[in-house]
Amino acid sequence: MSEVLVLVDHLDGAVRKPTYELLTIAKRLGEPSAVFIGPADKATEVADKVKAYGAEKVYAVDDAQIKGYLVAPAAEALQQLAEKASPAAILIPSSVGGKEIAARLSIKLESGLITDAVDVQAEGGAPVTTQSVFAGNYTVTAKVTQGTPIITVKPNSAAPEESAGAGSVEEFTPEISEAAKTAQIVASQPRKASGRPDLNEAAIVVSGGRGTGGDFEPIEGLADALGAAVGASRAAVDSGWIAHTFQVGQTGKTVSPQLYIAAGISGAIQHRAGMQTSKTIVAVNKDEEAPIFELVDFGVVGDLKTVLPAATEKVNER
Ligand code: FAD
Repeated sequence: MSEVLVLVDHLDGAVRKPTYELLTIAKRLGEPSAVFIGPADKATEVADKVKAYGAEKVYAVDDAQIKGYLVAPAAEALQQLAEKASPAAILIPSSVGGKEIAARLSIKLESGLITDAVDVQAEGGAPVTTQSVFAGNYTVTAKVTQGTPIITVKPNSAAPEESAGAGSVEEFTPEISEAAKTAQIVASQPRKASGRPDLNEAAIVVSGGRGTGGDFEPIEGLADALGAAVGASRAAVDSGWIAHTFQVGQTGKTVSPQLYIAAGISGAIQHRAGMQTSKTIVAVNKDEEAPIFELVDFGVVGDLKTVLPAATEKVNER
């Protein structure tokens, strides 16, 4: 069975959930091999994590010489690894950096690239992808017709499935060109920790829209009571009430939590594009005609300023 390379999404060795989703997809296509570009002393720890999701092999690329450079060295490392392993496909997280790595890699390998897949299935052994475009109005099915399929997959596109792999670590030392080291990070500011889960990874998301009138306290209160992440509509972001990193939708994040609570959000098609695959959707809106009610599992017609604090109180009582 051919290998399928999965680029590990991590923060200083802490593996992020999209990696497990990609490994789950990789298993449909062949034998998953994780590619960890990071500190050498974290490789075993990472291997322990990814083997529980089916990684048979973990290629450890020590980033000591390339840390702090932008994406070009990672693309070179993956190119050299692909030339050595001849994988059936290469899966990369659909982050900003991931998509740039994928684009560079596709040119280097002269291979077809599909970005922002929301599903990948095997058809006759080859990956066939699904993309959701024009705010979810069209679904595109595509496959790569030249070279090694390189696919970036949006977070939350697959439910991670545990499956034991060997997780054997193999060091890989690529030759990184000087040309790849021409752009370096000079400073990076860690985001202020909110203590809440990451929006991409949270099991519960509580989102606020224009209906909050700029007061996110009821949203944050309920989110904290439920251990949820906070999200927002673009109207709330454009009003300057909350940062763009919290935006859910076509031009924000795509989330697919177990529970999505939309408060003071009308349910525009562009917002739905980022949350409509959530398992259970609850809306609180004072307009019973609001389009969001068309896709909810539970709807509350009411003022979020009273409904949310009441819900928070009940949750806190438990
Ligand atoms: P509104 O549509 O103004 O709705 C506010 C809702 O709050 C109303 O339904 C109202 O009844 C309700 N309400 C008011 N007060 C209360 C209260 N006290 N209690 C309860 N309910 C109350 N939008 C996104 O969200 N994400 C995107 O990524 C995105 N991308 C876009 C990309 C493009 C190219 C375009 C053109 C638009 C995009 N939009 C996006 C914008 C989108 O079209 C909507 O304008 C936006 O989602 C509306 O946000 P909203 O629901 O918060 O505001």
